[in-house]
Amino acid sequence: MKFATKAIHAGQEPDPTTGAVMTPIYQTSTYWQASPGDNKGYEYSRGTNPTRKALEDCLAALENAKYGLAFSSGMGATDAVMKLLLPGDEVITGNDLYGGSYRIFTKIFANYGIKFHFLDLSDPAIIYDYVNENTKMVWIETPTNPTMQVVDIEAVSKISKEKNLMLVVDNTFASPYLQNPMDMGADVVMHSVTKYIGGHSDVVMGALVMNDEELYQRLWFIYNSCGATPGPMDSFLVLRGIKTLHLRMKAHCENGRKVAEFLKGHPKVKHVFWPGFPDSPNHEIAKKQMRDFGGMISITLNDADLQETFRVASNFKVFTLAESLGGVESLINHPATMTHASIPKETREKAGVTDNLLRLSVGVEDIDDLLEDLKQALS
Ligand code: PLP
Repeated sequence: MKFATKAIHAGQEPDPTTGAVMTPIYQTSTYWQASPGDNKGYEYSRGTNPTRKALEDCLAALENAKYGLAFSSGMGATDAVMKLLLPGDEVITGNDLYGGSYRIFTKIFANYGIKFHFLDLSDPAIIYDYVNENTKMVWIETPTNPTMQVVDIEAVSKISKEKNLMLVVDNTFASPYLQNPMDMGADVVMHSVTKYIGGHSDVVMGALVMNDEELYQRLWFIYNSCGATPGPMDSFLVLRGIKTLHLRMKAHCENGRKVAEFLKGHPKVKHVFWPGFPDSPNHEIAKKQMRDFGGMISITLNDADLQETFRVASNFKVFTLAESLGGVESLINHPATMTHASIPKETREKAGVTDNLLRLSVGVEDIDDLLEDLKQALS
């Protein structure tokens, strides 16, 4: 089945009791048992729920994976993956990560004896310098948040397999429409479903997909034991959102390209971070592993201190100044004080997250209105 068909149908059959075409919202915490243990495959909604199951099967299909698990947030999904590790284990990851991922690694799991190496993965060969007998996992984000660095998934996967490491790819920025890391050798793909997959800025959710049955069972055990699972109403909203994922992504990419090109020539803009420019780092790898370049763009401003950057960020009328990304509406964000505020200044500046950096999530509004808004806000 092709992507658009899977987005609309995967995991969803007409409801067996009524024939309802749309998957019902099974708003129940528990399920009847004819006698103890004699049930219809559902016992308690923390562990299993039919609306969530339909969504999980759909998410797995979109990523060309066998199994899917939905979590009550992207961070809930990340937390579950990290709980596969034991004290003394080591993880290799990128030096430009979503701030919340950096925070959970350094402020939560480091306290449980797990060691993280934050590396510039633009050349994956650097991994060889940090692997030792304790290394268990490689965690990558590509494109990265917020500097849009592209990491070569196939190359990282090759090294991970050679060194017997589990490869986890946070595919939030690309979405399954633009990139399928399982096809390039990832063991687990993670999503903040809150973003492009949900697509309407009305749900917070996360997901993991995988192919290996034993790994699925281990992760399901953590999901059910720790309980960060989403309710049926949110699962329904995301199933509904996914039905237009392919249409929305096409529009995000089209608008993103026009906004990136407009910003590149603007006198107020020092640098535009967008993997679609032929001169952007790892552009050839982006072309190889992504179907298009998406609607996430960051810029640095010329001669702008924090105050001037705040002034520009507050000037927008169509773009909304807010955290998050991937919804139909355009958002602008100041990573240094918003999404990435939990990263120490020196560390984030080393990764390029400077005070004059703004991140745009280009939505699917009319492009003329978006360009007009950028023009007036940057004037
Ligand atoms: N990964 C990336 C790349 C993100 O941008 C985010 C949130 O912004 C997350 C993970 C965390 O997801 P959530 O906010 O759904 O917990």
